[in-house]
Amino acid sequence: MIKKLIRSILGKGKKAAAGTEPDILGPKQHGIDPQLVSPNAVRVTQTLQEAGFKAFIVGGAVRDLLLSVKPKDFDVATNATPEQVKHLFRRAFIIGRRFQIVHVMFGQDLIEVTTFRGASAESALKDEHGRVLRDNTFGEQHEDAVRRDFTINAMYYDPATQSVLDYHGGIADIRGKTLRIIGEPEARYREDPVRMLRVVRFAAKLKFNIDPASSAPIPIMAPLIDNVPAARVFDEMLKLLMSGHALACLQQLRKEGLHHGLLPLLDVVLEQPLGEKFVTLALANTDARIKQGKPVSPGFLFASLLWHQVLEKWRAYQAAGEYPIPALHLAADDVLNAQTEKLALQRKIASDMRDIWAMQPRFERRVGKAPYKLLEHLRLRAGYDFLLLRCESGELDLELGDWWTAFMEGGSSEREELLARKPNDSGSGSGAGPGGGAGPAKKRKRRGGRNRSKSGGAEGGSGGDEGGSQTAPSASSAPSSIAAAPAPRTPRKKSPDAA
Ligand code: ATP
Ligand code: MG
Repeated sequence: MIKKLIRSILGKGKKAAAGTEPDILGPKQHGIDPQLVSPNAVRVTQTLQEAGFKAFIVGGAVRDLLLSVKPKDFDVATNATPEQVKHLFRRAFIIGRRFQIVHVMFGQDLIEVTTFRGASAESALKDEHGRVLRDNTFGEQHEDAVRRDFTINAMYYDPATQSVLDYHGGIADIRGKTLRIIGEPEARYREDPVRMLRVVRFAAKLKFNIDPASSAPIPIMAPLIDNVPAARVFDEMLKLLMSGHALACLQQLRKEGLHHGLLPLLDVVLEQPLGEKFVTLALANTDARIKQGKPVSPGFLFASLLWHQVLEKWRAYQAAGEYPIPALHLAADDVLNAQTEKLALQRKIASDMRDIWAMQPRFERRVGKAPYKLLEHLRLRAGYDFLLLRCESGELDLELGDWWTAFMEGGSSEREELLARKPNDSGSGSGAGPGGGAGPAKKRKRRGGRNRSKSGGAEGGSGGDEGGSQTAPSASSAPSSIAAAPAPRTPRKKSPDAA
């Protein structure tokens, strides 16, 4: 058994070329705490090894273990084929068509088992920009290592012998807190432009520096991201945003000068002071939730990231004479359509985003039955959290958020009292809700009052209660958006403010 393990670690008949023989580190050298290793991952490697195969914990899990961080998931790499793996486990499922992997399940716990990949990228099928399209051959362990992205992600841990196999100087880079792409950086980004997003994510998450040779080509090669299927970019973006370090990732993107082009949705947002404040708050909020183990909804996240684009278009449509509610829907359509081209927002996420946005004017109708109806909304919580972010960012008066907090928490008498109360500076009880038929002319009149709002600023919002028109941005903030204003479908009346 021991002999077999030693043989399996050292491999047989390998050519001694650069990157083909790993450095092997024992427990004293690497210091991995076996307590942090998933017992299920150990079961998988052990079962495979007992059947005569090589099997190691690999990739991000080894990196995290070396950093004394409990890995969130465990991947196993082996020289067994997917079919051979499947036969060894009771609940194992072969996944994927292009490159098959096996999901081995233990209750809810999933261990992903991948067969060593082989064949050099040179022989792989590529698109005209050099992006690898098909690349699905099995190979030797050293070939598998060289195809991984970063040196710190290309190490293999054998729980049986507690040794780490390091093919590309990963241990040194872990110690030096350096992210270094394996091989020639330009070629590796060309093969798979998503690696540019990954490097930013890991640098922010691990607080590592990017090796200058690995970061230098990024600004030049960033446009290659456009050729990556939108669904893949979306997945990576989601990982980035839900890493628990979204804010740091964003700052890293800016540091690398990458938010232009690389992440289209951030282009506009980060240039607007209030937009940036809103996004910063939303991401800080998300990071805190993830750190507390609370769920985070991608719909909420993307609704936040795109809100200031919606707001700008909403403003433009209204300034061009559209009613507030249809204007909001048109703005949402525009923003969602534009994004889906670049970033495949799944339908469910897009519908959650629309719900959250569409709910916003309803929070401003604090009259009659309207607030009670809103309490029944399935996504009330998300809409309310979103409202609070808008208040906190200075877009709306804090009073509105406080009112809703009290209304949601209050009993029936408190609610009646809140409804009877006249909020600070607005004509409560006007009944002119967002969909209540308040036309543009009436709207203009009210805007004058809103501009006195202390929240003022470019967004001109306030904590009034007059339905959608309250969130409608002030005419004075319209001009820049008007330049980009989409033509309203049926402009009822051209607003002079729109000039
Ligand atoms: P995380 O903690 O975010 O899961 P990870 O490194 O485990 O980080 P995964 O996306 O789970 O990231 O990928 C597992 C491993 O697969 C990586 O560690 C790396 O070795 C390899 N890998 C993933 N994506 C790529 C890629 N685009 N190019 C090369 N290797 C990759
Ligand atoms: Mg992983």
